[in-house]
Amino acid sequence: MAQNRLRARKRFGQNFLQDEMVIADIVGAIDPAADQHLVEIGPGHGAITQHLVSACQRLDVVEIDRDLIPLLQTKLGHYPQLHIHEADALAFDYTELVLDDVPLRVIGNLPYNITTPLLFHLLAQSHCITDMCFMLQKEVVDRICAQPGSKTYGRLSIMMQYQCEATKLFTVFPDAFIPMPKVDSAIIYIKPLSERIGGGLPIKALNKVVTQAFSMRRKTISNTLKSIMSLSVLERLDIDFKQRPETISVEDYVAITQAWLAEQDDVKLP
Ligand code: SAM
Repeated sequence: MAQNRLRARKRFGQNFLQDEMVIADIVGAIDPAADQHLVEIGPGHGAITQHLVSACQRLDVVEIDRDLIPLLQTKLGHYPQLHIHEADALAFDYTELVLDDVPLRVIGNLPYNITTPLLFHLLAQSHCITDMCFMLQKEVVDRICAQPGSKTYGRLSIMMQYQCEATKLFTVFPDAFIPMPKVDSAIIYIKPLSERIGGGLPIKALNKVVTQAFSMRRKTISNTLKSIMSLSVLERLDIDFKQRPETISVEDYVAITQAWLAEQDDVKLP
């Protein structure tokens, strides 16, 4: 075990938690209950898993590193609640885990290299997810939670806040892990929104508009968006288009996307 603990695969973003106080704080933030169905992404050596498994009805864990699977089995395999999946969390179908309509709570100390695609993969399946609690790079948590006008507000803030309510809980410093990461981490609590602003838009459409808006951060929004939509359509909206992209709210980006979609439809008409 000691030797295994020392081997950490960089390509799997392995920074294992070793600080029991931080682990207790994370478990406290998750606050598992006996009737809940939890899913942990990247259980590693089971630092968090071991505290969750007896506190919930069922715990599915998804781990990509096949060398860690026997280790988990030896350590925690005797718990009937535990179900170990050797799989890539980015390609995993979480809806298949749902039993008796009990929604999932998804948690994990996530490998930093897959954070953004994984969050979007999970949010695409959010109809079966109650909430999520993750350890991420602190800088990414700050970007997700940023408000318009702040330096960190950008595409990730808008795309995430359109789909969920996100709250930064606390910071975790590098010495909580082996090996120590080079950056600070933070715990984020994410609750998918059951009702989206504007009644729901295709995510791809919002992404297209927001990506275009932020393609030239220092220009005004009318300057950056005029290549994908006509200015007359933009001017009909109640938005000051002399603003820069980082000062425009999520609601306004939704309104712009609705106008862009309507214009696409008009263009397609015979
Ligand atoms: N939960 C453990 C802890 O806190 O000590 C390990 C956390 S470590 C930061 C990330 C874990 O995710 C590792 O166990 C790693 O092998 C696993 N992992 C990396 N990429 C993954 C992927 N695509 N799918 C599933 N697990 C992955």
